[in-house]
Amino acid sequence: MPKKSKFIRVKCPDCEHEQVIFDHPSTVVKCQICGRTIAKPTGGRGEVLATLVKEYT
Ligand SMILES: [Zn+2]
Repeated sequence: MPKKSKFIRVKCPDCEHEQVIFDHPSTVVKCQICGRTIAKPTGGRGEVLATLVKEYT
């Protein structure tokens, strides 16, 4: 069964900038404003390090 993947809107814990990211990132995703790492790839589901605001299904 294919893994369900989706886009999520997250808020950076440092600068509160909101951006939409993929929840299964293949590379490290950084905040566009301050450069904080907000998501990183793991074996399966990505690890999200920012505050989840909204999920797009
Ligand atoms: Zn930030």
